[in-house]
Formats: sequence, C-alpha cells, structure tokens
Amino acid sequence: MRIQDGVYWYKEKGLLDANTYVIKDELTLLIDPGGLENYLGLRLEEMRAGGIDARDIDLIALTHLHPDHCGATASLKEISGAKVALHSSQLEYLDIMAEEASRFLGIGTAKKFEVDFVLEESLNLGNTELRILHTPGHSPESICFYAPAKKTLICGDLVFEKSVGRTDLPFGCTEELKSSINRVSTLDTELLLPGHGAIIEGRSNVKRNYEFVREYYFGWL
Ligand SMILES: [Zn+2]
Ligand SMILES: [Zn+2]
Repeated sequence: MRIQDGVYWYKEKGLLDANTYVIKDELTLLIDPGGLENYLGLRLEEMRAGGIDARDIDLIALTHLHPDHCGATASLKEISGAKVALHSSQLEYLDIMAEEASRFLGIGTAKKFEVDFVLEESLNLGNTELRILHTPGHSPESICFYAPAKKTLICGDLVFEKSVGRTDLPFGCTEELKSSINRVSTLDTELLLPGHGAIIEGRSNVKRNYEFVREYYFGWL
C-alpha cells in the first residue's frame, strides 16, 4: 500500500512477521523482509499488485536482526537479486543475534545471507537521502531510517503506536531504549513507521505518541 510519494507499507502477516517498507526512487530499498517464507510469498504478491516486482528491489536493509524482521532475507535476496546492506553494528551481531534470538523465541535459526555492503551514516537512493541512526535498546544493533525531506521515520521495534519495544530479549537494554526514543523524538516527523502494528500519521499524532509512551512506559521500564 502506498502511504507517501514513493513509500509503501506492507502489513505484517502474522506472528513472527513484521511490517515491510519499500522506498522507491532511482534505487528501490526494501526494509525488513519479514519472518517466514510463506509470508514473503504473500508480500511479494501484494507488491506485484501495486506495481513493484521483486526484481525491482535493488537493496535490502534491516532495522534489526530479530527473526521476525530478517528471517526471509536470504530468500528475498535470492528471488530479487538485491544487495543486502547492513549497519556496522549489525555486522558485529549477525551470528550472535541469529542464534540467541532464535533460541529465545524457540524457532530454528534463519537461513544465512551474504552481506554486500556496510551502511554508514546515510544512504542515497537518488532523490531520497536517508539518515541511518543507531538506536540501541530493543536490541544493540537496532537502527532507524530517517528521510528528512519526507519527514518520515522507519523505527523498527523502538517505538510503536502506544507502546515501546520489549527489552527482555537477549542484549536488550531499557536505559538505551529510553535514550534512543528521546533522541528520535526530536526529529521532525510527520510519518512514523514502526515494525509492528499501525503507522502513525501527522506531526501532532506522532508527538502525542511520544508523550504517551514517555508517560505510560518510562515510569516502570
Ligand atoms: Zn525485534
Ligand atoms: Zn519485531
């Protein structure tokens, strides 16, 4: 589903899946392929119906390495021929997270994939400049993608509509989560795109959501 000029949202399909976002520009970037192969099939059908073919995808990136977000990466890479770009913090945790998160969630280890290049502070897709923000807390290798010109933030499992990312998974850290949320809350954001659940549209709704999570979660986290 198109949610902004050149930005598409494909809703999570079930448990062990996550929202997928596509930014279409001179290069087409897909963020978080989701967790399971059969969900990937559904997602690709949905994309095709909206005019995006798997082979149009040039780059695959991940908000973090939990299996609900990255489990289908190897398959999507194979189908699309896209390159996989990971943040330096994600490279460091690639093997550890695959094992730990799978063990903790009680599912098998996801298929391994090759990393083609390392993301630094920004990524240029043509007309869209994305800033890559390292936002640990939910997991140490969590990142956000911020498009200043679109005022759009893809935030993974950092913050959701009226909720925040859990910190009880391996290497989660509540203090880091809070400071990462505080940091992204200063960005001028009109469209907040979380890894699960609903998207949040409108600057005042985004602002209210940060106020809500601070009030209801920061106290007891
Ligand atoms: Zn996660
Ligand atoms: Zn998740």
